[in-house]
Amino acid sequence: MSSNSGFERCFLTGGAGFIGSHLVEQLLAAEKTVTVYDNLSSGRRESIEHSLGRPGFTFIEADLLDVPKLQEAMAGHDFVIHLGANTDIPAGNTDVRLDLENCTIATHNVLEAMRATGISRLLFSSTSAGYGEAPKIPSPEDIGPLLPISLYGAAKLACETLISAYCHVFNLQAWMFRFANVVGGRMEHGVIHDFIEKLERNPQELEILGDGQQEKSFFLVEDCIDGMFSAFHNSDAWCDVFNLGCPSGTRVTRVAEIVAEEMGLSDVRFRYTGGRSGWVGDVPLTRLDVSKMKKLGWEAKHTSNEAVRTAARRLLGIANPVG
Ligand code: NAD
Repeated sequence: MSSNSGFERCFLTGGAGFIGSHLVEQLLAAEKTVTVYDNLSSGRRESIEHSLGRPGFTFIEADLLDVPKLQEAMAGHDFVIHLGANTDIPAGNTDVRLDLENCTIATHNVLEAMRATGISRLLFSSTSAGYGEAPKIPSPEDIGPLLPISLYGAAKLACETLISAYCHVFNLQAWMFRFANVVGGRMEHGVIHDFIEKLERNPQELEILGDGQQEKSFFLVEDCIDGMFSAFHNSDAWCDVFNLGCPSGTRVTRVAEIVAEEMGLSDVRFRYTGGRSGWVGDVPLTRLDVSKMKKLGWEAKHTSNEAVRTAARRLLGIANPVG
């Protein structure tokens, strides 16, 4: 166990979002003090409503672009978990300042606020989208050059480089995580969520963006949180990046089959829009090399297919089959 076992007061950006709201529950269960800082652009008050009023929990509705507010709110915490970002990748390719502002500039603001308030430890949610169409599958952390194919991926990669520079120039310590596709209950977007919505509208036919052969590695939100804390506690590296996901993957057509099965639908016609990618910026094949995390003693408890099924069941309000 590293020196990080003593952390108590967590400043969590993006804590009203999908991953963040799960993180709040786990931190409060571990009796930590948690301040969520979120502008509710994609996060929802309902996702943290049940935590409001619990001892040690504070919610601040504010923007990461509001520098004075951010610094004031961050003061007095032991470490920062920075999840706040635009997460609508297609929207970011149209509104070209969305990722620049809510990811890259926002991260710069977080780093400056840490410097101003004397907080040195940062956990950051990066993404497998930074690999773009990776030259090596499964992709290890040290391949390059990294050439993202979305403004979201580019913005996250820019954050990684900024964080690295701040670690070296200003003595911050950072654990950066390149997440695979994180899934679970409370998701507001993503392929599982979209398929459910489409099938609720029309149970006979499902439009699938692309040729359905795109393959992603899905992993459960609890595994994601467990992996972050495992690296935080077990790696003393000053500034490091970790792939976080499971070793298996699921093709988009298989996701559609699992969702249809869980909705009790048979004979759904799949109609493909065609092409290797579902949309501009969609990486057709993503698979992370997770051996670095394995060497730290961590691996995901659920396979990609299990994660898809569990997430579908949670979104549909059905009991969870794999725990
Ligand atoms: P989410 O959209 O549910 O959460 C993002 C949160 O950030 C939201 O609550 C939103 O309101 C908040 N936010 C956005 N811009 C803000 C701003 N300017 N000021 C304050 N708050 C702001 O998404 P999520 O899936 O929970 O993702 C959490 C983090 O993990 C994000 O950084 C995302 O890029 C990263 N990530 C997620 C996945 C995934 O599959 N879910 C994969 C890779 C990386």
